[in-house]
Amino acid sequence: MKQKTGQNEITKVVIIGGGTAGWLTACHLGKKLVSDHSPVQVLLIESPNIPTIGVGEGTVPAFRNSLKYLGISESDFIKTCDVTLKQSVKFINWVYGDDHYHHIFDYPARPDHTRPDIDLTPYYLLGHAGDIPYVDAVSVQGQIIDKGRAPKTISDTEYNGKASYAYHLDAAKFAAFLTRHATQKLGVKHILAEVQDIHLDSAGYITGVKTDKIGNIDGDFFIDCTGFQSRILGQKLGVPFINKNDVLFVDTALAMQAPYGNNKAVPSSTLATAKDAGWIWDIGLMERRGTGYVFSSRYTDDITPEATLRDYLRPSIGDQVDDIACRRIPMQVGYREKFWVKNCAAIGLSQGFVEPLEATGILVFDATARMLAEQFPATLNAVPALAKQFNKRVQATWDSVIDFIKLHYCISRRDDTDFWRDNQKPETITDSLRDKLEIWKYQPPSPYDFTSKLDIFSIENYQYVLYGMQFKTNMQALQNRYPENELAKQQFITIQKVAEQVSDGLPMHRDLIKKVQQYGFQKI
Ligand SMILES: Cc1cc2nc3c(=O)[nH]c(=O)nc-3n(C[C@H](O)[C@H](O)[C@H](O)COP(=O)(O)OP(=O)(O)OC[C@H]3O[C@@H](n4cnc5c(N)ncnc54)[C@H](O)[C@@H]3O)c2cc1C
Repeated sequence: MKQKTGQNEITKVVIIGGGTAGWLTACHLGKKLVSDHSPVQVLLIESPNIPTIGVGEGTVPAFRNSLKYLGISESDFIKTCDVTLKQSVKFINWVYGDDHYHHIFDYPARPDHTRPDIDLTPYYLLGHAGDIPYVDAVSVQGQIIDKGRAPKTISDTEYNGKASYAYHLDAAKFAAFLTRHATQKLGVKHILAEVQDIHLDSAGYITGVKTDKIGNIDGDFFIDCTGFQSRILGQKLGVPFINKNDVLFVDTALAMQAPYGNNKAVPSSTLATAKDAGWIWDIGLMERRGTGYVFSSRYTDDITPEATLRDYLRPSIGDQVDDIACRRIPMQVGYREKFWVKNCAAIGLSQGFVEPLEATGILVFDATARMLAEQFPATLNAVPALAKQFNKRVQATWDSVIDFIKLHYCISRRDDTDFWRDNQKPETITDSLRDKLEIWKYQPPSPYDFTSKLDIFSIENYQYVLYGMQFKTNMQALQNRYPENELAKQQFITIQKVAEQVSDGLPMHRDLIKKVQQYGFQKI
């Protein structure tokens, strides 16, 4: 066994699993804990035989900050991982079945800098913007997207844009990219071997793991990044899984990688098209599209979903669609009862998962990996209190993600299938979301409705979805509280004008990425 350098000191951290979650965790721990002056060693063990899930191609803007924080060059990342830029999720047919709206990434604009106190949302709800969609009334970004433009130009520096953005990426290339970054720049050690057993001491702490290739590997702290199978937290430590299928019904995905058809324009939105028993994602990378149907097996049969996905692709790629392989991925929707037990924490699908409607997987795994790294215990004595806090925070994060995803379903007015009708039933909505919706019937969302600093989705995200979906807030009794009608009308007009100027000055999305692949952005 390894000799400890001090009493209960944690000097060897072992991550098991080399998917996106494992390597993101390795990067965060490497950055925070490994240096010439630190005794801490971070080691990642990855099975060469068990494949990664291989999906997970959409991200959110917080991820941009994370890549920058980890010391990654944006240009290298774009060149290596077949990356495109993402400015919104475009929801198609979610409200009535023949509609669309954008959940964009820019905050609502405040064009009059002398009056930053003017919040345009109530004025929009009072009808002062006319009948344009909410997103176009309060922001220029919808127009940028609809014109096929990128959120930045080649002369903007890395990680900065005219509008906010995230990325679409190739999951397999991204895991390989993070592997190189973690091992070459952040001092993480890498072992290719399969963990076959986990050794516990009499108090239930993990002392080491047995691998097929190099025998036993000991350690002081272990991180389970083994994907849905949750090899340590779930299987070995027996932490139960809390299923959330009563709130979020989808439980299966079919994934297909499709070529572009004749139209090679790359959308800078994830397209999310509602279907009878779920929705189809369509993500445009430079070389190909990643598509898939995420559905509830309780509301359909074994054959219809694949036909639905192929029918979706047929208009753009014709009969080529019949030659594309379709992969079925069963999904566990929910989270573990605990995420950190004794000297083992779980990050990634081993921790929890909800459908990828708002790209919350990488978001939550990245956020929790950073939280773990920033508060990482120096000794085992610090573990119980930190674990308790971590468990509380991660559960709150998942609960807030579940509320936000459910919002997209429960305020829909589709009534064409049981899937949509059941999704609107009050008993399928969490108490916390129901309480908020009750408030928002009579007043627009307020910052007081979002009290936790760690809330993953904020007031702006909720506003884009609520009013994109034409949620009705009854403003009649509130009119007197919003006397700046003329100023608000002026601001709505200014936003329209600026939107045209800004979008016309931006390059087409595919053209920008080609240039980045050739020249790169300027370094900051
Ligand atoms: C259909 C679908 C679509 C998704 N879309 C998105 C999206 O658009 N955006 C987003 O943010 N997220 C998305 N996600 C989530 C995304 O896939 C995950 O965030 C991400 O891939 C993390 O996966 P992981 O690393 O936890 O697990 P995996 O990718 O499954 O990796 C598990 C790793 O553990 C290793 N392993 C397992 N057992 C052992 C063992 N015994 N010994 C050694 N190694 C072992 C494997 O070899 C592998 O390296 C999606 C998920 C699904 C299911």
